[in-house]
This record gives sequence, structure tokens and C-alpha cells, in this order.
Amino acid sequence: MSKISLDNKRVWVTGHSGMVGSALCRQLRANYDVELLTVSHQELDLTDLAATEKWFEINKPEIVIHCAAKVGGIEANKTQPVEFLSENLAIGLNVIHCAAKYGVEKLVNLGSSCFYPKVSAQPINEASLLTGALEPTNEAYALAKITLTKLCGYYRTQYNKDFITIVPTNLYGEGDNFDANHGHVISALITKFVKAKQENRAQVELWGTGQPLREFIYVDDAAEGILMLTEQYSATEHINLSGGETVSIKELAFLIQEQVGYQGEIVFDSSKPDGMMKKSLDNTIVSKLNWKVKISLKQGIELAVKSFTTNKINISMD
Ligand code: GDP
Repeated sequence: MSKISLDNKRVWVTGHSGMVGSALCRQLRANYDVELLTVSHQELDLTDLAATEKWFEINKPEIVIHCAAKVGGIEANKTQPVEFLSENLAIGLNVIHCAAKYGVEKLVNLGSSCFYPKVSAQPINEASLLTGALEPTNEAYALAKITLTKLCGYYRTQYNKDFITIVPTNLYGEGDNFDANHGHVISALITKFVKAKQENRAQVELWGTGQPLREFIYVDDAAEGILMLTEQYSATEHINLSGGETVSIKELAFLIQEQVGYQGEIVFDSSKPDGMMKKSLDNTIVSKLNWKVKISLKQGIELAVKSFTTNKINISMD
């Protein structure tokens, strides 16, 4: 098994309406000659094995890029561990088993930077997986992602299946979940600052100490990397997709505040969790494949704020 070409293939992007899935679909339509398959959540519940099997049988995807997942920021992960573990596991098991059963040529599974141990040497390399305890605020989601990553590896070693796992660093951008309570930090902060500006609030309250460090990649850069790896990467070992800028949450907050043009004060609520103190991924392997980030954090934040305000996203601050 080696390199493949996406051209002329029936490519199914699961979770096509999510942030990563929709970025992949935009690029597949613009830059590749593929037959793109998508199906809405209403039409197909991926936790339902029989329905998923039937879908594979009828639609015969040749390539599957599995993006469907229950995702959320630190608060959502912390408060709904049952759903984060069981839904992600069920969806992933069904898609991966069916991909094997129905002869899919290549399956791409997405891991997560949060599945590495809480205490890891930084930047975190691929070999760190399963070397220590997980960050408690996202343990449930991480356990599902680790299991699915291992399952893809086992399918390769036991059944010779070309199933890979890509581990993107923290992503943000168009199509993100902009809910102030359940979104990840960049989308939540955009919502908070835009709202505070509209309502002339004197203060915006952010979570934790502002000290944690995070690396970010704009979703369009990540989509380009995922499609490159779909064609070029074939191995049991998962691969990090990283090389973005690493900043503290405080620095990030200033960048977003400036972009939104909010004049008030930022206060940090240290009763809220920080999560991992530092999370950035080692990009040694992926950088050898001629891929690098093109959109700077500043440019990406500008794009994300623009997509938020032009789409007049319905935001929840409750
Ligand atoms: P994580 O990378 O898994 O920790 O997930 P998040 O993107 O949700 O959070 C990243 C960091 O941003 C954490 O240290 C949070 O405490 C911090 N943070 C500060 N304010 C907010 C906020 O309003 N929403 C979110 N989601 N995180 C925030």
C-alpha cells in the first residue's frame, strides 16, 4: 500500500456540515475531480450500525474521510463525558467496521491533540501516545479517539487495510461552533467579544488563568493537509498535522479583542479549568511531506471573525 489519488474516486466525508468536514468538501469540490458523497445526520444516524451498513452497501464509497464526531470545548467535554465517550466510540466503530466490510480503499480517521498524556514533552510527538495519564477535562473524548486510532492500526496489521489516523492540532475557523459555553476557545472568545461590543459591556470574562499555551491551525490549512495525507500517507502509526503558531490564551485574547475592536477589560475567572498547561504538536514527520501552514494566526482570526459576523451566527451566551 502506498500513495493513492483521490481523482475519479467516490469520496465520502462523514460530518460534512461540521467545521473540518465542510472545509474538506470546499477543497474537494474546488481542487479535485471526485464524486463527493455526503449524508445529513437526519438521513443517517451513524450510531445505528444497520443503517450505516445499508448506506455503505448502497453508496459504495471508495475513500472515507471520517470527520463526524461529537466535539466541544473544555466545558462541554467536562460536563458530558458519557456522551463524548459513547457517541464518538459508536460512530467511529460503525464507520471503521463498515469501511473494512465493504472494501473501502482508504479510510482516514481523525485523532485529536488532546489524546496525548497530560504531561508530555513539548512539542508532543506521535510516540507519546499512551505513555501517561490523560488530561481529566477531556479524558472521555480522548479515550474514544485513542481506541479508534488503535483500531485503525489493528485493521492494517491484521487485515492489511489502508486505514490511517491524522492528529490535527487545535483547529478554528469558518463553520466552527460559536457557542460561548460549548465552543472551543477561539470561537467562544469571538462570540464573547462581539457580544460585549454590541452591548457596550465594560468587561469580558474568560476562563482559567490565561497562562495555558495552545497551538492553532486555520481549518482550511488543516483540510489541505488532510487531503495531502489521504493521498500520500499510509502507515500504522498516526501522524500529527501541526506547525501552527503557539500562543498563551492571554495573548490570543488580545489578538481577538483587537480584531473585534472591543475596548473594555478582560478578566480571567480562575475558578474555571485551564486544562493542559501546554499543548503543541511536533510536526517533524508531516513537514517532510512538503506541507506547511499558510495562514498566520492573525490572518486566521481575521477570517474567523469575518465569517462569524457575515454569517450573523446565532449565538448563545447563557
Ligand atoms: P482545550 O484546548 O481542550 O483545553 O479546549 P478549549 O479550546 O475549550 O480551551 C483552551 C483554553 O482556553 C483553556 O485553558 C480554557 O480555560 C481557555 N479559555 C479561556 N476562556 C475560554 C472560553 O470562553 N471558552 C473556552 N472554550 N475556553 C476558554
